Amino acid sequence: MSTTTQIAWSSDELYDALGPLPESSEVVVIGGGVAGTSAAYQLAKRGKQVTLVEMRGICSGASGRNAGVTGGGGSSLESREGRAIHALTSENFRMIQEDLQEELHDDFDLRLTGSVDIAQNEEQWEYLQDSVRRVQDLGVDVELLDGPQLRDLIPVASEHLLGAKHTKHSGHLWPFKLVNGQAEGAREFGAEVHPWTTVKGLHTSNGTVTGVETERGTIETDTVILASNAWTPHILPDLPDGALVSARGQIIVTQPVAPILPVTFGTNYDKEYGRQTSTGQLICGGFRRYDRDEGLRLYTEEVQPDCMLGCAHLLATLFPKLGRVNVVRAWAGLMGFTADGLPLVGPYEPAKGLYLSAGYNGGGFSWGPVTGKALAQLIVDGETPFDLSPFDPNRFARDGVQWLNPSTAGEKNNPKSMAELRE
Ligand SMILES: Cc1cc2nc3c(=O)[nH]c(=O)nc-3n(C[C@H](O)[C@H](O)[C@H](O)COP(=O)(O)OP(=O)(O)OC[C@H]3O[C@@H](n4cnc5c(N)ncnc54)[C@H](O)[C@@H]3O)c2cc1C
Repeated sequence: MSTTTQIAWSSDELYDALGPLPESSEVVVIGGGVAGTSAAYQLAKRGKQVTLVEMRGICSGASGRNAGVTGGGGSSLESREGRAIHALTSENFRMIQEDLQEELHDDFDLRLTGSVDIAQNEEQWEYLQDSVRRVQDLGVDVELLDGPQLRDLIPVASEHLLGAKHTKHSGHLWPFKLVNGQAEGAREFGAEVHPWTTVKGLHTSNGTVTGVETERGTIETDTVILASNAWTPHILPDLPDGALVSARGQIIVTQPVAPILPVTFGTNYDKEYGRQTSTGQLICGGFRRYDRDEGLRLYTEEVQPDCMLGCAHLLATLFPKLGRVNVVRAWAGLMGFTADGLPLVGPYEPAKGLYLSAGYNGGGFSWGPVTGKALAQLIVDGETPFDLSPFDPNRFARDGVQWLNPSTAGEKNNPKSMAELRE
């Protein structure tokens, strides 16, 4: 005989269990993903009185639904933007290997595996050769692997693959451990963390933030960090339309198999990607082009059969020697994609005291820990050594919105149709 326990809490019982919201706080952080928990942790560590509010559980947005791939550097150093990305992501990668592991007493299951960006056809191969040459000339540590070298690294890789770009400064981690570790770290420095607390809007007076209105009451504050990712336009209606839009991403997970993938992988201009977890399961995501409207501007976290089929087909194409493997799980999550593919990090001018940390596109784990630190430095010290100007959240209001996001380029004209995949 089996028994089940039912937990049926009313919202009043839930809020009683969570404890009351503070009436005021020096800083309120909105959003309990990698960006929000990092900001809360870094601020609390610097002595600020912080309250973090999250509408669901900690790590239940994109941060709890991604593939866990992370890395640092790798961008071209020719432009100011490239140098700023390089500095921030390199420091992020260092932080998750050193400071945060030590301070939060966890290794987040971080594995420094390196990654391959695989060429399946001539066009991708030419692109990879060109991109490796360009960044190698600038001193970035990447190399090209031809087909046989790729198969030396991944023996199950298909004979048809032309080669790959091999990046050493990357790996993968377990996102829940990092995000919950940062939330717990913030609590230990005195921050209040309130899950199941939905923000309805911000209060301002004379162009300055004065409070955060939630479904459980208002918190008075003069400093707010909005780390609400895909949902940011809901809280900030004056953000220009199209500056940041939601983008639904989907992932499948297989049953555990023998260790076959010593590195993480991407392909098709990184629109598809995956890795093998420490428990042996293969994770593969991508194929937004088979979703409704390429997954853009959708707010439901539902999986679509065509995207699942695309991912399963890709695993079988890249690694045919895998044989028959069952897919055991799948999920969807909402990313915040920006019009130019860069995040929004820094003060938001229409309201003094309001800062944005959102729009990390498909790579928040290479940014969130360090941008939380940069914002904490700005708020506490009035300055940060990082150049945040390319990520100025006011750029779209100032320059207009033109959709140039590289992660969406070519999604629609990918040569493989669903009919071809089904054959
Ligand atoms: C399928 C998929 C695969 C991905 N793979 C990778 C990968 O391998 N590597 C990588 O680096 N990145 C990856 N990403 C992207 C990565 O997950 C994001 O860039 C990152 O998690 C963004 O973190 P965040 O804290 O900004 O946002 P989120 O984690 O989305 O956090 C925002 C939080 O704000 C909360 N919120 C929203 N509105 C309100 C409100 N009104 N009141 C209170 N709270 C609110 C949400 O509930 C949410 O928890 C992937 C994403 C997806 C979906």
